[in-house]
Amino acid sequence: MSDLYLKFVNTSVGKSTVSTLGLPSPVVLKRWQRTDQPFIEGDVLVGAAANPRAAGVVGSVLATSPANVYHASGNDRLADSAKAGSKARPLAIDGSIDQRFSALVFDASGIKDTADLRALYDFFHPVIRKLAGNGRVLVIGQDPDTCRKPAQAASQRALEGFVRSVGKEVGRKGATANLIWIAPNAEERIDSSLRFFLSPRSAYVDGQVVKIGKSDIDTKAPKSSAPLAGKTALVTGAARGIGAAIAETLARDGANVVVLDIPAAADDLNAVAQRIGGKPLTCDITDAAAPAQIANFMEKQENGIDMVVHNAGITRDKTLGNMPEHFWDMAIAVNLTAEELIDEELLKRKLIRDNGRIVCVSSISGIAGNFGQTNYATSKSGVIGYVESMARSLKNGITINAVAPGFIETQMTAAMPFTMREAGRRMNSLSQGGHPVDVAETIGWYCHPQSSGVTGNVVRVCGQSLIGK
Ligand code: NAD
Repeated sequence: MSDLYLKFVNTSVGKSTVSTLGLPSPVVLKRWQRTDQPFIEGDVLVGAAANPRAAGVVGSVLATSPANVYHASGNDRLADSAKAGSKARPLAIDGSIDQRFSALVFDASGIKDTADLRALYDFFHPVIRKLAGNGRVLVIGQDPDTCRKPAQAASQRALEGFVRSVGKEVGRKGATANLIWIAPNAEERIDSSLRFFLSPRSAYVDGQVVKIGKSDIDTKAPKSSAPLAGKTALVTGAARGIGAAIAETLARDGANVVVLDIPAAADDLNAVAQRIGGKPLTCDITDAAAPAQIANFMEKQENGIDMVVHNAGITRDKTLGNMPEHFWDMAIAVNLTAEELIDEELLKRKLIRDNGRIVCVSSISGIAGNFGQTNYATSKSGVIGYVESMARSLKNGITINAVAPGFIETQMTAAMPFTMREAGRRMNSLSQGGHPVDVAETIGWYCHPQSSGVTGNVVRVCGQSLIGK
């Protein structure tokens, strides 16, 4: 469904109308477009608080891009080591700066108490207004759960409030702000996450906090144009909407994709399979025989599986007092129980290969709750609990994560009443709905072979929706 307001405000008449009336003025988001597109271009400014742990990795990852990298200088509270390992040039962050930055990256991992928090202000205050449209703010901290002292845990947790507030300030430019919390000695695991959060692939991921831990798997950097080459994915609910976009994106990244949907959607499913060179599998995931049917297919046709994406989902909305029991049962069965049973079968038969990925599609309704969606929100909240628990028990580099989409432009949201649809679109920092590809790109990052330290996360793809925490 196209957002006519977004198109209108980006015309010259529209720009002056919304400015006169004080209406939201969303910027057209730049999304990833071509295989040879670098993850970041333009001028990038990096900085760090004292004792940074990730600055070296940040420097070497940025050095693989064509960006002009600068490190902040001229402030004693900022660490000089921000330039470590990079081709960064010093830049005094004072009133004389005249360039626009495509990204501001700050390593806050060394912050150990509230006094150190001042480094955030010192770095960002002089340059935040120099962030370009569609720019990126990325802060790297230490996971507060791994901090020994309360003062360190407090100041690391404080980064969350900082980043979420910055996201709200820069959103009107189409820019985003996100936070990566690393566990001790996990800094070598942030490569794929830096590339995702700094790139146009994360256009609609805003105000998010991601935890990255150590991993028992070592993976060499794959070919950047086809990071999933040689791997097999299963995507459920892939005949249309978000599922079709996930299948297309994983195939674009080199994966061999099995697309699954109900028999009634076979025509659309076959069209998706044909478009991406994948294989269709028709099956209702709530059938008692479905887990075995899927496992048999993956075993016989593919000899195993690397990525399982549980995207199939339904809404059956009614207020609780008006809800027929089959509405409740169907939402729980499709959105939650089927995922558990399919994974159980695939894992029991050891079909998910080492360094495998399980990705579940939750929803911001599962985080914030929603009127008329007690069944749906229960199922989508359950998905989050499932992911968090499974992350603790999976082995051999197999990760599990969830995405929680906000308002995404699909047939599901096109069917909403006008006022609810407009509210859903505008009530976020970017003042617009996301596209199915935004969810798909996030799943592509989870599935990247080098994302083995990313597990147990729930990342909202919602443009930093005002709804929920
Ligand atoms: P959609 O209705 O367009 O597509 C869902 C697909 O799942 C359909 O092709 C459908 O046939 C399939 N499906 C449903 N029940 C199935 C079953 N029993 N077995 C196999 N396949 C089944 O929905 P969408 O908007 O693309 O949403 C995809 C996922 O994203 C869902 O899990 C949804 O809850 C979630 N989500 C969507 C939004 C949004 O704004 N569109 C927001 C939050 C979460």
